[in-house]
Amino acid sequence: MKPRIAILFSLFAVVLLVLIQFYSISEMYRIKREQFDNQYGNLVYTSMVNYNRSPNQAFDSLFYAFDNYARQMIIQYEQLQSDDDENAFRQTVLENFSKILNNQKKPEEFVRQFLKNRGVETDFRSGYYIQELYLINFDEMIPLFSDTIPHDQSDLSEALQAYSYTSEGNYYRIRYDYFIDFTHKSLIIYGEMVVTLILAFATILIVCIVFYLTVKNLLLQKKLSDLKTDFINNMTHELKTPLSTIAVATSSLSDEKFLKQQERVKEISTLIKKQNRHLTQLIDRILDISIWEKDQVKLEKKSVHILDFFKERLDSFRIEYRDLELNIHEDYDLDKDYVKIDEVHMTTVLNNLLTNAVKYSTRTPEIHVKVSVKNSMTIQIQDNGIGISREEQKYIFDKFYRSGKGDFKTVKGLGLGLYYVKQIITAHSGDIHVVSQPGRGTTFTINIPLNNEHSAGRR
Ligand code: ADP
Repeated sequence: MKPRIAILFSLFAVVLLVLIQFYSISEMYRIKREQFDNQYGNLVYTSMVNYNRSPNQAFDSLFYAFDNYARQMIIQYEQLQSDDDENAFRQTVLENFSKILNNQKKPEEFVRQFLKNRGVETDFRSGYYIQELYLINFDEMIPLFSDTIPHDQSDLSEALQAYSYTSEGNYYRIRYDYFIDFTHKSLIIYGEMVVTLILAFATILIVCIVFYLTVKNLLLQKKLSDLKTDFINNMTHELKTPLSTIAVATSSLSDEKFLKQQERVKEISTLIKKQNRHLTQLIDRILDISIWEKDQVKLEKKSVHILDFFKERLDSFRIEYRDLELNIHEDYDLDKDYVKIDEVHMTTVLNNLLTNAVKYSTRTPEIHVKVSVKNSMTIQIQDNGIGISREEQKYIFDKFYRSGKGDFKTVKGLGLGLYYVKQIITAHSGDIHVVSQPGRGTTFTINIPLNNEHSAGRR
């Protein structure tokens, strides 16, 4: 399966899982709420039945107050002129009925005590709400408010209907409910679901992390395989050039006329030798891949006279590039003469950095090599080359990375030099970083700690 399709499928699965989790949680909340409503609904209803049964209930005075007020309102109703008046009238009557109702002593304390005795939640607010109201004028029923006349009860959506009362006097008919709204209802329900919630969120989190890591890995693999393809193309080109040069050179050597010109033969044999050396270097570098595939490069450290080491390497580098105009400046600040390093690998590190300083330059290379040995060894290689953009600096130490895709024909390379450098420096427990300004130049700084090196002092 292509990575993109695999990612899309996994993403779909993750989204589905998250949706299922949310659905299950909301379903669970719904069921818990129903259980809550059932349990508390029954308790509250029982308490209300007990309350209504208890003596000293002032229902008579309440109904008398209703009747009295209704009678006065019927007189007013007969004098109403317009529809607007009638609407305002309905509103006022309703509000006043509500006031009379809510002014009477509420059963709150009784219900709270009842719930407390049963050891359940007692924190609630309550109120009376009129559900149906008529004024009665002889045989005529004047609806002020009923199920057929819609009214807003949105603030009661979570409340429990504790008890329903109906009463009919001479001048009115009313149905009203007593509602109880538990303040911490949601909290209590979520509290009961806490383990499920934690598990659900942990599952989502784990799945998301696994998904992220898988995608990251997949993309990395893809990048690596792209880089490998680049590398193979690049390597093929690199190997072909010296091979074809050698092929042309050898065919000229088989030419009788040519063999008589001693100078030309010498020239050709030097060319073949040079190309041969180049081929060997290339093949060595490719063979080194076996080292990189392992987690850790194996070092063979030994005490190295640091000044001699650098002077010799820089001199042979100068000889190798004697055909080119280039200047290498050296600067040493050494507290110790000997340092324990892997001589062979460090030679390659130095060569790779110096070669890059020459390769990636459009003017006469001015290379400054600064070596300081104190508690640690610091090697700084500064050039005046083309520089590396900030974006590219992130990748230059990656395996097979080469900047300016397709440019390998102009500047040779396999994209392995800096990767190799980094591996070797890391194996020495050191680090390397780059500072560069495009167009101005690049400075690579290597730092290798020299702690506990008994044999590294002056000898
Ligand atoms: P290669 O030189 O074979 O391409 P390296 O790993 O040595 O591979 O370098 C990776 C990339 O980093 C190069 O392609 C080049 O773009 C950039 N680079 C390395 N050293 C320098 C330098 N001194 N100046 C400018 N660019 C550099």
